[in-house]
Amino acid sequence: MPLVNAIDLVREASAKNAAVLSFVCIDYNEARAVVNAAERTGKPAIIMLLPEYVTQYSLNGFGEFAAMVKFMAGRTDARIGLHLDHSYDEAEARWAIECGFTSIMFDASRDDLETNIRRTRAMVEYAHARGVAVESELGSIGLASERAGEKTDLFTKPDAVALFCRETGVDSLAVAIGNAHGDYLQTPNLDLARLDEINAATDTPLVLHGGSGIPEDQLVEAFRRGINKFNYGTDVKRCYIGAIHDYMARHEPPGSLDVLGIPAAVQQAMTDLIARKLVLSKL
Ligand SMILES: [Zn+2]
Repeated sequence: MPLVNAIDLVREASAKNAAVLSFVCIDYNEARAVVNAAERTGKPAIIMLLPEYVTQYSLNGFGEFAAMVKFMAGRTDARIGLHLDHSYDEAEARWAIECGFTSIMFDASRDDLETNIRRTRAMVEYAHARGVAVESELGSIGLASERAGEKTDLFTKPDAVALFCRETGVDSLAVAIGNAHGDYLQTPNLDLARLDEINAATDTPLVLHGGSGIPEDQLVEAFRRGINKFNYGTDVKRCYIGAIHDYMARHEPPGSLDVLGIPAAVQQAMTDLIARKLVLSKL
């Protein structure tokens, strides 16, 4: 079927008190694994690109990546969305939109509230005029390695949520409630009471980043209490690297042409992991 707009999956999840799962992908192998897992489980999924894979690591172009995902979506019965993760720069976000991204995250959460509102509102106006949805961030999610998930002063403040959503017109909002990006130094403990307050303050669907390492009982509860999109990445990257190491260990000598089997090996390992996570979605 044709590519689904990611925000439609998020809104469907919101209507069902559920969450759609969303995966940053670095390449074809990872995107293929998401589609395979979506097919296996019958669950929708969103494929995301981090802009720095284009702008810093030259792995791909926005247009090439968008075209790849659109083609893959068109060749499966699974419902697949496309989304640009954390863009901090207006020109970059506009570039991705022009290249075919139908949903983006514009992240001005490092700015003060007034500036965050002003920049986000301008990006929302630009994106909506082109039929593109915008996710933004309030509070600061930060890095797990810096214990961001334990710094409550960086958490999303419920009393700012209604103002922010009303003034910017964002389509979805990423929140900081004890979650953080990367590997947690200790098991996170989501502030679900804060999530309740945030959810009561707005009808805008809420997004949870930093999903790897959050216990599944907390995830299920968060999905029930207002999280409608869930970003899951670090565990998948670890799976990808581990599958390469396992494959090479089984195929001595190093450097032999058995390297041709790596794509199938990594896709299989990531498909299994992603499928196990996708079943958490009630969609
Ligand atoms: Zn994030």
